[in-house]
Amino acid sequence: MKADDRALPTYEDVVAAAARLAGHAHRTPVMTSRTTDEESGASLFFKCENLQRMGAFKFRGAFNALSRFDERQRRAGVVAFSSGNHAQAIALSARLLGMPATIVMPQDAPGAKVAATRGYGGTVVFYDRYTEDREAIGRDLAQEHGLTLVPPYDHADVIAGQGTAARELFEETGPLDALFVCLGGGGLLSGSALAARALAPGCKVYGVEPEAGNDGQQSFRSGHIVHIDTPQTIADGAQTQHLGQLTFPIIRRDVDDILTVSDRQLADAMRFFAARMKLMVEPTGCLGFAAARAMGEPLRGKRVGVIISGGNVDIERFCALLA
Ligand SMILES: *Cc1c(COP(=O)(O)O)cnc(C)c1O
Repeated sequence: MKADDRALPTYEDVVAAAARLAGHAHRTPVMTSRTTDEESGASLFFKCENLQRMGAFKFRGAFNALSRFDERQRRAGVVAFSSGNHAQAIALSARLLGMPATIVMPQDAPGAKVAATRGYGGTVVFYDRYTEDREAIGRDLAQEHGLTLVPPYDHADVIAGQGTAARELFEETGPLDALFVCLGGGGLLSGSALAARALAPGCKVYGVEPEAGNDGQQSFRSGHIVHIDTPQTIADGAQTQHLGQLTFPIIRRDVDDILTVSDRQLADAMRFFAARMKLMVEPTGCLGFAAARAMGEPLRGKRVGVIISGGNVDIERFCALLA
């Protein structure tokens, strides 16, 4: 089976995901700011997924994927490899749905993340990131114990779940002229693009990556998935090395362009969110706003959506980044 033969998720899948998430995920607020509107000459609408359960949109995709497990899969449980928001999203969703979760994390993962994952009831299995291959460990665990592996972005149910955030945004604002979405492996961007094409066909959809890790931009422009080394950036949720077999074709088809911003621009956006909007946003969550700010003139007079993807950052790190 070639990658492009695989069924891509559609907007109908986003609608079905929204029904599964109702009553479980928060319908997060859409915020506006007089200051950003004055600064940009545009009307900006911020979809605050930093206020989602476990602090990021990843709850949507994880809960949607786990909701679709059959009886056998539920009994055996789920396995995921992640040191970030996907780990917590899987652990929390599994607990809510009454199934066991195993999370494969690097030995040197931050203590707070390990504690948060365990706090949600997940069993943490460590690996050595310098000598062991986490995907192989995940696959072995899946095989030995009959666990179902749920990847962080390249999965139809994950993509459909992530698309529900943009769907809620459009439901609230009506059609927009542009939408800015943070981009790592492309689950959030491809899901958002499905919602945009269905609900606001004229809306320009932009994916935004850290400058140091512009594999998505290279892939988008070249027409094939480009792999890069793990990029050095403060946007730790976007340190992915490549787009997915499912996310890439949707992004190529439904996204208008992929933009990049510097770590400096991300830190400035973090400061702005904290000082002016009283929002604690993690560096990766600032990608969309940083790019909208940098675009400037072309957005004048336009109605613009920005997805704030998450707010999980240690207070100490938050302060250090702003210092
Ligand atoms: C995972 C994550 C992203 C990137 O999402 P993808 O679906 O991998 O593109 C962006 N922001 C935050 C806060 C995340 O946790």
